Amino acid sequence: MKFEKVIGQHEIKAKLIQAYHDNRVSHSYLFYGNPGVGKLALAIAFAQYMSCANKTEKDSCGECPSCKKFEKLIHPDLHFVFPVISVPKKKSISDNYIQEWRTKVLEDPYFTYNEWLFSIASENKQGNIFADESSEIAKKLNLKSFESDYKFMIIWLPERMNSSCANKLLKILEEPPQNTIIISVSDNREDILQTIRSRTQPVKILGIADEQLKEAIINQYNISESMATDIVKISNGSLFEARNQIVTNDETEYNFAKFTNLMRTCYSHAIQDAISLSEELAKNSREKQKSFLYYCLVLLRENFAYNTNLESVLYMTKSELDFSKKFARFVNKANVNELVQIFEEAYYHIERNVNAKLVFTDSAFKIMKIIRKN
Ligand SMILES: [Zn+2]
Repeated sequence: MKFEKVIGQHEIKAKLIQAYHDNRVSHSYLFYGNPGVGKLALAIAFAQYMSCANKTEKDSCGECPSCKKFEKLIHPDLHFVFPVISVPKKKSISDNYIQEWRTKVLEDPYFTYNEWLFSIASENKQGNIFADESSEIAKKLNLKSFESDYKFMIIWLPERMNSSCANKLLKILEEPPQNTIIISVSDNREDILQTIRSRTQPVKILGIADEQLKEAIINQYNISESMATDIVKISNGSLFEARNQIVTNDETEYNFAKFTNLMRTCYSHAIQDAISLSEELAKNSREKQKSFLYYCLVLLRENFAYNTNLESVLYMTKSELDFSKKFARFVNKANVNELVQIFEEAYYHIERNVNAKLVFTDSAFKIMKIIRKN
């Protein structure tokens, strides 16, 4: 991974490169900062840079034999330690998941702890750096470097290291093997053993600068410049937070479009349209169906409140409010309880895997009967 693949972070890149050229590279770094700012990507890019045979003042070449192996994360002097799950009768060590790890990092080096666990476990499990890992770490660091001047060990999320493993690592840090560079990458520095922390050189990785984060999400998600500007404002320089905002925004827009469509269809008794809409909604995932129904419940309550002049309209977006100005009068004392009940029942049935097309069609027909009540 070249430095250019890391979003923004120009200042820190320049500092790391300078440290290398000044011969001031520490044998043990701690890159820390908020999730989603690119710490792991920086660690890999830095190691690749140091190992590159043809580096420039700004980046590794990407083409020398060392870079080629780094680009696939298969360089023999590059070692990774990261949280894994425990499986019966199998050693709980990173090497057992190295294929999944390479795939994940190469696909996109910006991922959360939960996203990583999800890619190696089908159910909810805790990930840790287990005691088994400590002998692996010692073994790897005692190897001579094969091809590079240095051996690199990147420890992702050392705060999730089991204490016996952490104590072994501490011994290593007290007498670091020659030509070894350990880069720990942490979301929560405070959770790392103090004795380990004190033996690392801390490097705080700040948020991604607004301009570069904006450019990155426009390219990745093909969203408009004005939407990107809004999102960046509330993302604290974190790509993860920006992504969450985009997903939420998209889903709200979708749910709003379908809610208005459903209400118009029901109001005009357009039976065929109601069936088509139900078919369309039924094609979505259960989660998306539930999110839609939940959204309908919230908006119904908002409309009833609007109709009765309560304050909660403040929570509506501009397009929701525009719609409600005309629609709210159809959610009134005569039908609000029944309407709410229809959506609550639908939610209940979707959760219990009742045929979704039936649930949506049935709900639409029920709404048709009461939407004109007042
Ligand atoms: Zn190179």
